[in-house]
Amino acid sequence: MIRIGNILVSKGEGGVYGERMLEGYRVWDPYRSKLAALYLVGTGIDLIPGMKVLYLGAANGTTVSHVADYVEVVYAVEFAPRPMQDLLEVARRRTNVIPIMADASRPEQYAPLVEAVDLLYQDVAQPDQAAIALANCAFLKPGGHLILMLKTRSVDIRKEPAEIFRDTLDILISAGITVRESTWLAPYHQDHAAIVCTR
Ligand code: SAM
Repeated sequence: MIRIGNILVSKGEGGVYGERMLEGYRVWDPYRSKLAALYLVGTGIDLIPGMKVLYLGAANGTTVSHVADYVEVVYAVEFAPRPMQDLLEVARRRTNVIPIMADASRPEQYAPLVEAVDLLYQDVAQPDQAAIALANCAFLKPGGHLILMLKTRSVDIRKEPAEIFRDTLDILISAGITVRESTWLAPYHQDHAAIVCTR
């Protein structure tokens, strides 16, 4: 990952959401992107040229655009019409972003459009985040990686975030997924955790 001092950046054509430019690079703000936060508080998975990524919960393409600066192709799944409009604009200027309007909990909807990927990245605020991730692991190449951004409050608002975190790890491990790293994303995102796995 490219850093200038301790600032995470990506190399891409022009700004996408009014982000700062630094020495010709786009500053990747950890307060706006959980993936940027992960690279600052933990290790994550390096984004490299040639990598294919399936991105669930693309929203308006803020983080997608940075990922696309590093990798070969990003299949970006989003189900809400409003953010999809912005995502389409990002895809118009970045030909390696393939926008897909679909429900990430129904991978059969987009299976014909997606090839096997090196990285599955998920950032959907849903109660069944682990189940959605597991259903989409079918797209991973052997040895491919999953980064699950867990919004604990969306799983169950009545439970402690730490309990949700533990339960989610248990679900993934029971399904045979190898967890490489798990970390909270504070101070950038409260009650959010990142779980990095290998299939
Ligand atoms: N990853 C984005 C970023 O860093 O720029 C932010 C994602 S936002 C927290 C979560 C997004 O997931 C929302 O845009 C929401 O519409 C989308 N989403 C939630 N559930 C989904 C589902 N089942 N399928 C597809 N998109 C979903």
